[in-house]
Amino acid sequence: MARLTLDSVTKRFDDVVAVDDVSIDIDDGEFLVLVGPSGCGKSTTLRMIAGLETVTEGDIRLGETSIARKRPKERDIAMVFQSYALYPHMTVRENMSFGLEESTDLSKDVVREQVEDAAEMLGISELLDRKPGELSGGQQQRVALGRAIVREPAVFLMDEPLSNLDAKLRAQMRTELQRIQEDLGTTTVYVTHDQTEAMTMGDRIAILDDGRLQQVGTPLEVYHKPANRFVGGFIGEPSMNFFEMEVQGDRLVRVSRSDTEGSSGQRPRDVEEFAYPLSETTREAVEGSTHVTLGIRPEDVEVRDDGGGDHHEFETVVDVVEPMGNENTVYLAFSPEREHSFVATVGGMRSIEPGQPAVARIPESAIHLFDSETGVALK
Ligand code: ATP
Repeated sequence: MARLTLDSVTKRFDDVVAVDDVSIDIDDGEFLVLVGPSGCGKSTTLRMIAGLETVTEGDIRLGETSIARKRPKERDIAMVFQSYALYPHMTVRENMSFGLEESTDLSKDVVREQVEDAAEMLGISELLDRKPGELSGGQQQRVALGRAIVREPAVFLMDEPLSNLDAKLRAQMRTELQRIQEDLGTTTVYVTHDQTEAMTMGDRIAILDDGRLQQVGTPLEVYHKPANRFVGGFIGEPSMNFFEMEVQGDRLVRVSRSDTEGSSGQRPRDVEEFAYPLSETTREAVEGSTHVTLGIRPEDVEVRDDGGGDHHEFETVVDVVEPMGNENTVYLAFSPEREHSFVATVGGMRSIEPGQPAVARIPESAIHLFDSETGVALK
């Protein structure tokens, strides 16, 4: 069984806590994507699994066996690096078979067969006698993958393996990698900072921030039910809109301080900029909170020419329109004097112009609410 378990794993570099008490159970054959912003501890986590970095606290197990203190070679794990790490003076065949004959008791013939099978799977059979310098980036990437595949390891670890490829090739390799992983059924941990890659490739996604695990779930779970504000903002493009709100009875109110002094010279005062009425169920979710963050995804905002009298509709002004072809990203402001305060995605066929008034509906079924202080999801 190639079930991989991270059990309260911590990594400290002097006083930097790079990975903080991370626990994840990765199922046999699962494709788990580790995602998060730069410096969140993704690579360090992967390197600890590979044995390239020691574990400060906690344990890593493959099946029932602890591997945390084993040497990299003894772990039955193969890693694919972003840089490919191919030997320039060796042919593709030699790169793929290097070390395999020495480190295993496989005969030359068996190794040859394994290399040729992997090369066929990756469509690089005709490149076996070339050297890395004679290959394109995409082909080198396949060789690096091939080298991992021939080892028939229990686990593949991949650290941003597609980031040196152009956008088109990257999209193609994403699907191909998924197919290969599925065919082989090898447990895989894949690191990326690209949330699109995470959403499209992972059986499950583990989101890290500042060394801490924020949430583990299927792509749909983390998209629809983010555990906290960080995950809400990290997953989804364009990002979720956030409004800091005060809980006032059966509504949420955004209060902003007016910075213009009145004609009589009175002090700046609080103005109610945006109030959001709550149904009873939502009210229960925010009970006990004084301040919450309201989140709404741009694709959940409904932009209309006229209102229909719904109390979740707001008069806005279109500030900026970014046409994206099949859709427009539209920046909306609550009034012409204000800067835009939220983003909506609108179908590309709609004509929509800056300066135009628009009614934005923010459906209650689509809103997310987070505790303002802790960021934890309330709804
Ligand atoms: P990126 O996407 O930029 O590669 P990452 O999520 O992979 O980032 P890590 O490389 O794991 O992040 O780094 C996590 C934290 O640990 C960072 O603050 C980094 O500066 C620190 N760190 C990593 N390696 C070392 C090291 N050898 N010595 C000291 N600090 C380190």
